[in-house]
Amino acid sequence: MNTPTPFWESDWNKVQAPLTALRRQLASFPSPPLRIMKVSQLDADLLDDELLETMKEQLWSAFSLFKPSLKERFKPELTLALNLVMYKFSIYDMGATYGSQLQNLIYRNERKHSGGLQSTATDAPLTKTQKIAFGAVTVGGQYVLERLNRIITAQGWGELPEDDLKKKAWSLIQSAGKVYRVVSLMNFLGFLYAGKYRTILERILSMRLVYAQRSSNRQASFEFLNRQMVWHAFTEFLMFMMPLINVSKLKRNVKRLLLPAALMSGNELSELPAHICAICHENNSSTTTSPGTASSTVIHNPYVTDCGHIYCYYCVKTKMMIDDEWCCLRCGKKVEAIARHVEAAPDKALEAVEAGDDKEDADQTEQDSQTLEKISK
Ligand SMILES: [Zn+2]
Ligand SMILES: [Zn+2]
Repeated sequence: MNTPTPFWESDWNKVQAPLTALRRQLASFPSPPLRIMKVSQLDADLLDDELLETMKEQLWSAFSLFKPSLKERFKPELTLALNLVMYKFSIYDMGATYGSQLQNLIYRNERKHSGGLQSTATDAPLTKTQKIAFGAVTVGGQYVLERLNRIITAQGWGELPEDDLKKKAWSLIQSAGKVYRVVSLMNFLGFLYAGKYRTILERILSMRLVYAQRSSNRQASFEFLNRQMVWHAFTEFLMFMMPLINVSKLKRNVKRLLLPAALMSGNELSELPAHICAICHENNSSTTTSPGTASSTVIHNPYVTDCGHIYCYYCVKTKMMIDDEWCCLRCGKKVEAIARHVEAAPDKALEAVEAGDDKEDADQTEQDSQTLEKISK
């Protein structure tokens, strides 16, 4: 069947050449730049790290029943296996790490998106070569480095003489490390400017993170982030302040404010027998030691407070040094001074004073002289 040629056929054929030329030029036309939020890309990295840590913890706890030397010896291999599994199910199968997926990001082959093709409707997926190269460097490279590090430390390459081949290799590795760090820094500065490649490897392999779904919203709202930050700062401040707060002093002051004076003294400690040190008793009951250790609460080296109650010298002195407004546990009065308590028999007390003289510090000798005066009366 011979159809008549349409009237526009000749015109259509005429514009074919310029149209093809235009299509070719399309890639070099300026196109709206594709902007991916840098914070999402960095967050994805943090999430990946945290996920790996969590997985590692699980793995190590699985090995807790084995000999610790076994885990220590095969740690690089176990980490390698874990990394391989994670790599296979994330980058290799889905083209993005788990952290990136949580942030709605996916890798694309940036080589297919040069020039005007930056913001095309569909993204070119990674090629197999890119995926395998990425895995080899991240998973394999990490393993090789860890093993190499172990060998170097075990054989002490750094301490060998200068002309040794191993020492030369060691210096080479050291300088390579330095160069890598500098280049990484440059790359990161570039990332902060352009927002394209977080690591050198991504730049070399042209693997760029883009939004998996262009239309979906930002995952974490700013409100949530702000709240997180406020709480973080607040808890940090509290942790900093805690050691500076004297809890017992605060407790006493609040008690003094709220309770009448009669109640302050009427506690169970005032009912204790006279030969028991109230401080020792309190310490003992708070640490809930076994009931058989009751004898340890008997007063050693007795000292009497100005309110007339007796404690161990060590206990009462410590309390007074920590808190200059310390109150007697038995009567609740503020203790201003303490003096050595003397038993009824004067010869015994004298002996005790003489025996203890050289042991005790200057602070105490002052009080000792007071006691001696009392004895001489
Ligand atoms: Zn005591
Ligand atoms: Zn008292």
